[in-house]
Amino acid sequence: MAAGTLTIDLDALVANWRALDARSAAGIETAAVVKADAYGLGAASVARALARAGVRRFFVAQADEGAALRAALGPGPEVLVLSGHMEGDAPVLREAGLTPVVNAAEQLALHLEALPGHPFAVQLDTGMNRLGMEPAEWAEVAALVLDRGPVLVMSHLACADAPSDPMNESQLALFRALTDGIPAPRSLAATGGILLGPAYHFDLVRPGIGLYGGAPFAGARAVAHLALPVIQLRELEPGEPVGYGCSWVAPGPARIATVAGGYADGILRSLSNRATLWAGAVPCPLAGRVSMDLLTVDVTHLDSVPPALDLLGPHQTVDDLAAAAGTIGYEILTALGPRYARRHLGAGA
Ligand SMILES: *Cc1c(COP(=O)(O)O)cnc(C)c1O
Repeated sequence: MAAGTLTIDLDALVANWRALDARSAAGIETAAVVKADAYGLGAASVARALARAGVRRFFVAQADEGAALRAALGPGPEVLVLSGHMEGDAPVLREAGLTPVVNAAEQLALHLEALPGHPFAVQLDTGMNRLGMEPAEWAEVAALVLDRGPVLVMSHLACADAPSDPMNESQLALFRALTDGIPAPRSLAATGGILLGPAYHFDLVRPGIGLYGGAPFAGARAVAHLALPVIQLRELEPGEPVGYGCSWVAPGPARIATVAGGYADGILRSLSNRATLWAGAVPCPLAGRVSMDLLTVDVTHLDSVPPALDLLGPHQTVDDLAAAAGTIGYEILTALGPRYARRHLGAGA
């Protein structure tokens, strides 16, 4: 069966990084978050393009992701692992030259014992209650940590995509109370935090979703284009049903295109009877349910049916599709399946 083509525009990616970098002052470093295979878009190609554009630090979620990234990037850029130093990670952290973001006093002890002298960062919890040292824990270990010279002391915002949420100011105030005056560089902002303004920028910002063209970075250029091949066409009589559960019924004489791509490819089943595919600039509604490998699309109104229909493209962003599915752009991107042919385009490819 034919598979869809996922085209990743590396020029748009680099333009998004530059635009986000321009939102903070010149001396502030803009890193890049490439966890989960660069949000589904291919960490090796994405990180190589960003490194060529000047990115010197990358964040991943897990040590194994970091090792794969190191193999793609070679020595030079710093690779930080957000889950920190987990039991058994020491060999991969050492061999791949990865910097764990230590999240608890026990991780700190493990790290200092297993890899003395190996660089590390620290994450503090300032209210999200997900990952990081609690203020009391930090008070106990801060002197020891700062004596070892962490590469970064960071925290993460829970509500940065909602600028007026009072949580932002409260996390900022706590982060400052915990870290003002320390001799180590600091970081608080991901994409949303960058947009909150200079008070949130500190020494380093670490965008993810904005690089990949997603909200809340309204100025982002689209990076992912997804075209799905039409593999069958059929004419329907009025009243004939389409797909599992017969949830779409032809209101009149209709033409249905069967398209390769389904929920096994990350096209969420909640898009059934809701998504729109695009024949160039002409919208074509999904007719019936999303099945595992296939979609059925109403193309009755097209004069001629193109060989492929777009699910992500100039007329439908990841956030448009996310809104139709009842989710967020992050989930649309990270769900993009392994069956698509991934093509990386642009100067960095
Ligand atoms: C995922 C993540 C980021 C990037 O967040 P975006 O909202 O995608 O910009 C930054 N920091 C941490 C700790 C993260 O987990």
